[in-house]
Amino acid sequence: MTRLPERLLLGPGPSNVSPEVLAAMAQPLVGHLDPSFLAVLDEVQANLRLLFGTANAMTLPLSATGSAGMEACLVNLLEPGDRVLVGVAGVFGGRMCDVAARAGAEVSRVDVEPGRILEPGPMAEAIARSRPKVVAFVHAETSTGVLQPVEEIAAAARDAGAFVVLDCVTSLAGLPLAIDDWGIDAVYSGTQKCLACPPGLSPVSFSARAVDAVRARKRPVQSWYLDITLLSGYFGGERKYHHTAPISAVLGLAEALRRVLAEGMEARAARHREAAASLVAALEPLGFSPLVDEPHRLPPLTSLLVPASVRERPGGEAGLRRALLERHGIEVGGGLAALAGRIWRIGLMGENARKENVERLLGALEQEL
Ligand code: PLP
Repeated sequence: MTRLPERLLLGPGPSNVSPEVLAAMAQPLVGHLDPSFLAVLDEVQANLRLLFGTANAMTLPLSATGSAGMEACLVNLLEPGDRVLVGVAGVFGGRMCDVAARAGAEVSRVDVEPGRILEPGPMAEAIARSRPKVVAFVHAETSTGVLQPVEEIAAAARDAGAFVVLDCVTSLAGLPLAIDDWGIDAVYSGTQKCLACPPGLSPVSFSARAVDAVRARKRPVQSWYLDITLLSGYFGGERKYHHTAPISAVLGLAEALRRVLAEGMEARAARHREAAASLVAALEPLGFSPLVDEPHRLPPLTSLLVPASVRERPGGEAGLRRALLERHGIEVGGGLAALAGRIWRIGLMGENARKENVERLLGALEQEL
């Protein structure tokens, strides 16, 4: 067996996984139609409903990563020629545009500067102008560390008759979600962030209105694997074979969900907020400053502008991140796209959202600087 080094994963994901989740995943296999496994799947689907804040029957762990969840939400709801409006506040909003364009949709977008939220006013104007079938945006933009307010934009989209798609990859299990109250029709997440599981599953949920629209499509969904009407054969009541569910991954998710619910979502969210606040307080004296203004900071993922003293060191900021990894076993993330070289993205997600991890990072940084 290849032994990998131990790492403290303080990047944008994956985050560290508890021994309990790893043990759940290491159990001997049963079949994906075995009643013992199907009971676990029932529990997972019920607990995902609780965390998403939904009564949607079509709530399931898709057998693929968060990007497949994004693709599932968009390709089910969009037919070639349909109009979609995407709010782009970072890389993952941009990815939504690419996915929608490949599905043959006519994409319009509202872009904001990295580090800013999408403002409801311009979004509502763009909705009124383009009359889209779908409005899509990201709740927790991991590329910038912005927490996007959802309700006003979702309401404007709903009032215009549009379906609302929301990316909750970095918010599920880190912040309380209420997707039914917010009026969301399709939502996706990932397991490797605040749920503290390995990557590989994408929890998704579709409203009854969205499912009805998919069933009423003129043309079949352009993906066999992600077509929710076919997936419902297995993830709905019948438990008919569709594909071989990744049993061990689902067992890990079941354990992770139990841990989240045992802690309680409010307490877990408070733990994430406190850890993020202590991170900013610890790193500001070293010259790191938050990219995002309060109150739009995303507690699970903090983006910090790297000081000139670090950028101008031999090896630059990337060299310092490499030293943290190689000498201290700590992973932190760099910037993406326009923010590459300018920010660090430090994740305190799931099990890792604790002050002692901030202290360990601070100690390592003080040694290196
Ligand atoms: N959306 C957001 C906000 C993300 O942070 C990520 C991954 O980091 C994705 C989508 C894509 O998820 P994955 O990398 O699991 O495919």
